[in-house]
Amino acid sequence: MKIHSNYNLIHANTFGVEAFADTFVHLENEADAIDFVQHHLDKNKPYMLIGEGSNILFTKDYQGTLMQMQNKGFELVDENPNFVWIRAAAGEIWDDFVAWSVQRKYAGAENLSKIPGTIGAAPIQNIGAYGVEFESIFNTVEAIEIASGKKQRFYLKELNFGYRDSIFKTKLKNKFIISSVILKLNKFPLFKTDYGNIQEELNKMNYENLNVALVREAISTIRASKLPDPKEFGNAGSFFKNPIVVQEKYASLKLSYPNLIAYELSNGNYKLAAGWLIDRAGLKGFTKGKVAVHKNQALIIVNLGGAKGSEILAFSEEIQQKVFDLFGVELEREVNLI
Ligand SMILES: Cc1cc2nc3c(=O)[nH]c(=O)nc-3n(C[C@H](O)[C@H](O)[C@H](O)COP(=O)(O)OP(=O)(O)OC[C@H]3O[C@@H](n4cnc5c(N)ncnc54)[C@H](O)[C@@H]3O)c2cc1C
Repeated sequence: MKIHSNYNLIHANTFGVEAFADTFVHLENEADAIDFVQHHLDKNKPYMLIGEGSNILFTKDYQGTLMQMQNKGFELVDENPNFVWIRAAAGEIWDDFVAWSVQRKYAGAENLSKIPGTIGAAPIQNIGAYGVEFESIFNTVEAIEIASGKKQRFYLKELNFGYRDSIFKTKLKNKFIISSVILKLNKFPLFKTDYGNIQEELNKMNYENLNVALVREAISTIRASKLPDPKEFGNAGSFFKNPIVVQEKYASLKLSYPNLIAYELSNGNYKLAAGWLIDRAGLKGFTKGKVAVHKNQALIIVNLGGAKGSEILAFSEEIQQKVFDLFGVELEREVNLI
């Protein structure tokens, strides 16, 4: 366990904003985490977990304790003729897990290639990309209750997974340290290549039989061409969620904007492409001081260098207002605000 005081977070968040945490703790394993919450954590002040900080915007200093799990390892815990169950430690990098499983030809995680962040954070917002969400390969969360230091397991039905949502963002927010996740992968791939331009990218490759490594490669290429690298321009991926509207609202928007991009959901509502709304509002590339809407991907707000978290927040609120004024649609933040 390593405990730091007055810790500069500039390299601990992918927006690259400067802010200081009163206390920052590296927890190397479960025993460390249990010991820390039982004997050292000041529970009278704010506290929360942090992974790679790729979904957090710090708008001010954190006057409390940030805890980071740094446990490592992937372990095959069970298998049958069709499936494998892998325990992945919370401190591992998500994409290292995807690479590890693709190398072994296990299927299910390949569409989630190159999503930044840690294993421990993946269940929090039920990460998703290219037609696949984390919940589709999820089996169990192993976590430590912060109040008691007791270990607990959570299974699929308990987690209320939704679009970029889980019980860890609502009822159980900041109540548990996720220490590992068990994922269930398929020995026989069921490819999902009909989303976005995956198939188009695959067509450029000269292959005889499709495999998970090729899908990972195609998705990695697409992501690298579309998304800004946080090392170059600080960002946290999609700043907003895709808004969900009722059928009547969708129909009236579609009448005014025939090119509107939307997906019908099983309950009859529609998920609108937030990037399209921002782009149509003329905001792609919109810049103010050190903050901008990314020039190729309207859903991403970038720090052009040296922006404060509060400037990024004010900028994002301006985008929300402009989109609301034009379409009457509220954009909800995907990024966690501190
Ligand atoms: C360029 C870029 C592209 C992205 N693309 C996608 C994408 O395609 N799809 C997608 O879903 N997301 C995407 N994201 C968002 C981000 O990658 C995910 O939200 C990721 O899961 C965050 O991981 P993290 O370790 O950085 O978590 P952090 O940002 O550090 O934390 C996120 C939340 O998880 C909590 N948390 C972290 N670790 C633990 C733990 N061990 N126990 C309990 N709580 C914990 C934190 O308290 C916080 O509430 C992208 C981000 C970037 C920068």
